[in-house]
Amino acid sequence: MLRVAGLTKSFGGFTAVGGVSFDLAEGEILGLIGPNGSGKSTTFNLIAGALAPSAGSINFLGREIGGKHASEVARLGIGRTYQIPRPFRKLSLLENVALAAYYGQETRPSREKAWAQARDALTLVNLPTEASARVDGLGAAGLKKLELARALATQPKLLLADESLGGLDESEMNQAADMLSMIRDKRGVTIIWVEHIMGVLMRVVDRCVVLDHGEVIAEGRPA
Ligand code: ADP
Ligand code: MG
Repeated sequence: MLRVAGLTKSFGGFTAVGGVSFDLAEGEILGLIGPNGSGKSTTFNLIAGALAPSAGSINFLGREIGGKHASEVARLGIGRTYQIPRPFRKLSLLENVALAAYYGQETRPSREKAWAQARDALTLVNLPTEASARVDGLGAAGLKKLELARALATQPKLLLADESLGGLDESEMNQAADMLSMIRDKRGVTIIWVEHIMGVLMRVVDRCVVLDHGEVIAEGRPA
């Protein structure tokens, strides 16, 4: 589904991602792990079109997407969450997610369909679907779920989930891991999960790619 080859990103003289290569098969959950600053989010930003590569290629379903604009990548079927959630705080949960459904798909849905897809995505992540449910008052776990719902509302084939566990307690971490697993199993969404907290991730992913200083240092099954 995805082939990343020789992917490189330099910021001035500093190479944040240097020659990263990996493949991803449809239906997989791949863990992209490594310490803080190892280039995980930068790799995501390159795939999702938030950054343009300095070198290398990103092939998604047979098409080169390196350097394409983020909105175009989203419409091709790649959804992503952000490590730091920044929802529209004055809008309801439902409005936040409906915006993603309305603007993030290849073919623009009717407004009615966008609302329905938003309700569906909120239900999938166990958040309330009432129009009155607000962003204020969501804790760290709720905000992470909202990020997921916004990404899922674009009906992605591939989901890039960045640091879904940060700020969560043990039981919330387990719930978040189970949720990603359920999204793959029930919706057939392929997932790359970036995380530096490794415990629960190891239970859920099929395979890991380990980054350090912007390079792949290991790859294989969690064991
Ligand atoms: P991770 O997500 O693995 O913690 P990042 O991909 O966010 O790591 O960052 C990798 C390295 O690149 C870090 O040293 C970070 O400071 C640096 N970096 C990330 N984005 C930029 C940027 N826009 N400009 C300069 N340096 C950056
Ligand atoms: Mg990061």
